[in-house]
Amino acid sequence: MRIHEFQARQMLADAGIPVPSGRMVQTVAEAVGAAQAAFADGATQVVIKAQVHAGGRGKAGFVRLVNSAEAAREAATFMFSHRMISPQTPPEGLEVKRLLVAAAVDIKREFYLAVTVDRANRTNTLIACAEGGVEIETVAHERPEAIIRQPIDPLVGLHPFQARRVGLALGLRGKPLTAATDILLRLAKLTQASDASLCEINPLVLTPPEDGAPAGRVLAIDAKFSFDDNALFRHESISAMFDEAEENPAELRAAEFGLSYVALDGNIGCLVNGAGLAMSTMDLVPLHGGEPANFLDVGGSASEEAVAEAFRIILSDQRVAGVLVNIFGGIMPCDRIARAVVAAARTVGFNSPLVIRLEGTNVGPAREILHESSAAIPQMQIATDLADAARRIVAAVA
Ligand code: GDP
Ligand code: MN
Repeated sequence: MRIHEFQARQMLADAGIPVPSGRMVQTVAEAVGAAQAAFADGATQVVIKAQVHAGGRGKAGFVRLVNSAEAAREAATFMFSHRMISPQTPPEGLEVKRLLVAAAVDIKREFYLAVTVDRANRTNTLIACAEGGVEIETVAHERPEAIIRQPIDPLVGLHPFQARRVGLALGLRGKPLTAATDILLRLAKLTQASDASLCEINPLVLTPPEDGAPAGRVLAIDAKFSFDDNALFRHESISAMFDEAEENPAELRAAEFGLSYVALDGNIGCLVNGAGLAMSTMDLVPLHGGEPANFLDVGGSASEEAVAEAFRIILSDQRVAGVLVNIFGGIMPCDRIARAVVAAARTVGFNSPLVIRLEGTNVGPAREILHESSAAIPQMQIATDLADAARRIVAAVA
């Protein structure tokens, strides 16, 4: 599960990491009000930021620095009336429903900072880079050696000496080094305590010298967090931040019906029972020259209701040109699944090509059921095995 920047900033602040003050708003009028309040509070510049579950906002024009309430109005109006499109969004972009209005800071240097899971190493890992900001992907791609990695011991956490070493490697000295070390330690703790899979601060900034901080201050001005869904049950306050509006509607509906569904980019809808078989289907279809439109596991039981809903969800994707049903009947015998598939195909009613491959317990009677229904579902083809099924659906959508 992901959360918005304004929520992640609050979590950082609660963990004792310095973050400029800000307010989340949902209308242009509120944005103007929040900007006025920030100026009245002494801010010389205010930053208006779209709150969507995707990065790359800066380059897309959805992070804007403003010097007046009027400019805040203009920026907010633009963001609420345009979809935000970046390399991290779907091609049609995302609708902006919330903005963050925050006191802006002067920036001397920008750093990248993250704690994320290193699956190969079975630990959390601290990742840092002295060249943070909007070009971090390019830096990581062109000069991977510029990225600092520090594995974190799962039992003792990040050691203070490790944090200091990273701070030094970022080029910090004196008070800013002490401040950054403290931030790193707190970020590592927060990541583990919240069961996050990613806690990213990009950028962490060093400000120019200012009154009371002759060496500059170190602050987090952007944050992106994601959490392990399987651990959400023990984090009520995090689960409460779930924002339905930011999720893929088809994935939400699937979850309601107990289906595991992930939308992909191809045009072959896949309806499969069992995660392993679904994964194999993801390999099988490209092997025969096709592209899956989704991953969908209806689960072991594959009831008629679940299968019908699965068809509806798959077909609600405009790109789907045909559906491949790939079922292994184990505890739930094939004939019952065949009946469910036939009934669901008829209730849902569609004309796109349908290829069915069934194997397992009672496969004989199941094939008979399918053959008997072929008049009612003329676009249906019955495959003999996995490869045959993949070939047929790929040919049918070509
Ligand atoms: P992202 O592009 O979605 O990651 O959005 P960020 O919040 O990281 O903002 C993008 C860039 O805008 C940052 O890397 C900064 O260079 C700039 N920026 C954001 N907030 C401020 C601010 O308060 N002051 C200044 N001077 N620049 C900012
Ligand atoms: Mn950022």
